[in-house]
Amino acid sequence: MNVNNLMAELERKHPGESEYLQAVREVLVTVEKTYNEHPELEANKIAERIVEPDRIFTFKVPWVDDKGQIQVNLGYRVQFNNAIGPYKGGLRFHPSVNLSILKFLGFEQIFKNALTTLPMGGAKGGSDFNPKGKSDREVMRFCQAFMTELWRYIGPETDVPAGDIGVGGREIGYLYGMYRKLARENTGVLTGKGMTYGGSLVRPEATGFGAVYFVRQMLETAGDKLEGKVIAISGFGNVAWGAALKATELGARVVTISGPDGYIHDPAGLDAEKIDYMLELRASNNDVVAPYADKFPGSTFYPGRKPWEVKVDIAMPCATQNELDGEDAKRLAANGVKYVAEVSNMGCRPEAIDLFIEKRIVYGPGKAVNAGGVATSGLEMSQNSMKISWSREEVDARLHQIMSSIHHACLEFGTEPDGYINYMKGANIAGFMKVARSMVEQGVI
Ligand code: GLU
Repeated sequence: MNVNNLMAELERKHPGESEYLQAVREVLVTVEKTYNEHPELEANKIAERIVEPDRIFTFKVPWVDDKGQIQVNLGYRVQFNNAIGPYKGGLRFHPSVNLSILKFLGFEQIFKNALTTLPMGGAKGGSDFNPKGKSDREVMRFCQAFMTELWRYIGPETDVPAGDIGVGGREIGYLYGMYRKLARENTGVLTGKGMTYGGSLVRPEATGFGAVYFVRQMLETAGDKLEGKVIAISGFGNVAWGAALKATELGARVVTISGPDGYIHDPAGLDAEKIDYMLELRASNNDVVAPYADKFPGSTFYPGRKPWEVKVDIAMPCATQNELDGEDAKRLAANGVKYVAEVSNMGCRPEAIDLFIEKRIVYGPGKAVNAGGVATSGLEMSQNSMKISWSREEVDARLHQIMSSIHHACLEFGTEPDGYINYMKGANIAGFMKVARSMVEQGVI
């Protein structure tokens, strides 16, 4: 494989799909050497085949708002690769959603899912629908309209969607209700379900918990410990709250959270009461963080700014793609950050990652760090197939085991001659080679 030639060809075929091209380039550059040491991969054109989704569905989602007005949104499902298991990946409802974003997310999902050790392929979907500011009934009508199209393409052994930004337990409930009515079956067709209809314990907090388990191993491998560390977190969505809760429980101090309005710096650190307050604020369909500063004295709200200017030991971007750029990375490095763990998908811009690696700051990529969410979705699928429900301890123990095995894979494939662990390289090679081998063994299809 020649990465530059392949990228030039992809840029020609998919002009302007910047996030997708960014995600593909990162993977191909890191796996190129290993790939070229395995002639069977080139002989089977694995790189050319893996970078294109198997198929993409796009559809129109008309629905009626509370004022009786007709709204039209776009819906998508990108089925990227099912070489190792059924398509699996979340649905994102956000006004920024477009094909480039869903293709990058679907592409990353292939390798993330491969790392979990569970049999899941990669997919992603969603809509440009914005749940913020919508009434509960509007969200329900939208979810029902979305599912009347999506249900034909998915199934418990075919494609299993879940949540992502803008899609949490409430949306999964409404989506599942409509699927059940249309398909006339109760199956594990979605994950992140409520506990009354087949959900798994630990799934709501799994992405954040898994990320902290992974970070703890990153620190221990570096001869360090999580206890007493100061952490900057961005966002306060599905992922950030679990990370904040677990990090706090394990003795670290989380001093920032953020929203589209700016960030909060709370030097005393978050605690269970403050996290509960933020969850309530979010449940009221609000993603601003400013009210936190009025409620908790000692904390400060910085409008329109990102938390990467605060002096911390660990940075954990938990909001969205490309939220941490080269300038942010320079600021973090100047303030002595030691670890950066991406919890959002592709949270760091390539120039930020380059700087971390150059300065030997330990950097964990989203594919490895945030894989606990989809891994626990995989555990939900297992429970649904067996028609049983595991205890919280059982699910949490399996999540621990999976995060350890991902960490181990990163060490195996990412340790550089000087001892620095390039987690990005390790995760990409381990995930890619598993899927590539499976594709070679199954022939050209
Ligand atoms: N959206 C999550 C992710 O990026 C979870 C996907 C899932 O559970 O299927 O991995």
